[in-house]
Amino acid sequence: MKRFQEIFNSSDLVRRAFDFAKLAHAGQKRKTGEPYFNHPLAAAGAVAEWGLDETTVAAALLHDVVEDTGCPIEKIKEQFGEETAFLVDGVTKLGKIKYRGVERQVENLRKFILALSQDIRVVIVKLADRLHNMRTLAALPPQKQKRIALETMDIYAPLAYRLGMQKLSGELEDLAFPFLYPQEYKWLIKNVKDKYEQREQYSNRLKPVLETELRNNNINLISIDSRAKRYSSLYKKLLRYDMNVENIYDLVALRVIVKDLEDCYAALGIIHKTWLPVPRRFKDYIALPKPNGYQSLHTTVFGPENKITEIQIKTARMHEEAEHGIAAHFAYAQNKGAKAYLERTATFADAKELGWVQQLQNWQKNFSNEDDFLQSLKIDFFKDRILALTPKGEVIDLPVGATPVDFAYQIHTDIGDNCVGSRINGKITPLDHQLRSGDVVEILTQKNKKPSESWLNFVKTSGAKNHIHAALKNKSGSLVKRGPEAAELRITAEDRMGLLKDITAVISRSHVNILGVNSAVTSRYPAIKIRCATTDKAKIEKLLLKIKELGGVKEISYQLI
Ligand code: MN
Repeated sequence: MKRFQEIFNSSDLVRRAFDFAKLAHAGQKRKTGEPYFNHPLAAAGAVAEWGLDETTVAAALLHDVVEDTGCPIEKIKEQFGEETAFLVDGVTKLGKIKYRGVERQVENLRKFILALSQDIRVVIVKLADRLHNMRTLAALPPQKQKRIALETMDIYAPLAYRLGMQKLSGELEDLAFPFLYPQEYKWLIKNVKDKYEQREQYSNRLKPVLETELRNNNINLISIDSRAKRYSSLYKKLLRYDMNVENIYDLVALRVIVKDLEDCYAALGIIHKTWLPVPRRFKDYIALPKPNGYQSLHTTVFGPENKITEIQIKTARMHEEAEHGIAAHFAYAQNKGAKAYLERTATFADAKELGWVQQLQNWQKNFSNEDDFLQSLKIDFFKDRILALTPKGEVIDLPVGATPVDFAYQIHTDIGDNCVGSRINGKITPLDHQLRSGDVVEILTQKNKKPSESWLNFVKTSGAKNHIHAALKNKSGSLVKRGPEAAELRITAEDRMGLLKDITAVISRSHVNILGVNSAVTSRYPAIKIRCATTDKAKIEKLLLKIKELGGVKEISYQLI
């Protein structure tokens, strides 16, 4: 809370937000029994720690005031200004999203969160909110724990990771892990705890040795510490290593922080000279950063006592960025002006993995002063799309100008066809109303209702248009083009006793139902028409051959009707 205290002391806005939120939440309790205000305060503390500005810290303090105390957003705007209100409103909207583990939704939902936020700082407040909620998750009923933990694991932790906030991402996963995988977690605690401690002790013995070695060789060393691998990522790794902890060399890794880039490679050389590197275990994420921008040198060596251990080497700057990602950039922008981050090494991103995040990351490069920087935090790359929500929190992706009817058809054709009205954010709304991102849309349906032709005047999606056209044609009936439903056999044969009986016997033996028989003497021979309940051409052709073998049959053909 050190950074928070600093901002609190220096910012009138933050102090006012503090008092306002404290008063608004007065008397409310968290499920843990503590005063509700502890929660927004913790979120504000995290946001301050990550280096965000006073507006974001104020917004974090106020983030639950609208949702949980019924204070209108206009009041926030009045008292704390447009920008703070904008952030609070964004966080409030994000609160409506619920994820229940539908795989196909994941990417949409992450996109949605960014689009709806419109400003990275909204996402960051939301992440701070989630971090504290996860820390106090034990107080909630089991079913809620599961849902929130799942949402954290699938949506928020990856989102934090993509924003480069690696420390937060790992922490969120670790907090979610025991709720999602209680058995596995128990297993880990039982089987790995001692190993962790042994490795930790080993690292502590190794540290001074390494430090002396680096200092003797004039490396500008800032610090060496050890980092224990997180339970959640260890578990993922164990699954790939036969659950054998002995095979995991980075259970506890040494982290060497040096002054600049040259020191990184120089330190690496000294480490490899001192201890033999394990073949094929060296990774240069400085020259080739990870898609989220992570930079570091990783190597694994046969250390003293013949133990294998991982060592990571990076600059203080790289370390800061790995921990706090986009937030770290924000801190730089605030403190040092624009130059510092323009020097940043270009990020090589895997386009396939990133896609939309790529656009997000471009912000790092395309600005030259602080105004541009703030502007760059605005997310406008979804400006052609609207992301609306079902009452259950499922995200529906639509073009700008889309209406409840488009929304209905996007969910299901039947819902579109039977749609009679809509409720948007709880209010009954006409069907031609244009939706906005973040709207919660409930479609009212009535069985056997048909679409109205007038809908064609306002729907935006081609899907909706096509379905409406199809349903209208069905309604009038005349234009319906149906597929064939039966086959009509046309047989010309010499009239003889029992002919018809023989023919129908053949058809019955082929397990084909006869729908009707028609016979007429039009020329020399009687023509028999038999309608059969099949459209299977192969079957019919076989049948024709059998009938042709019957005595007296002259000609036979068929038609699907
Ligand atoms: Mn909250």
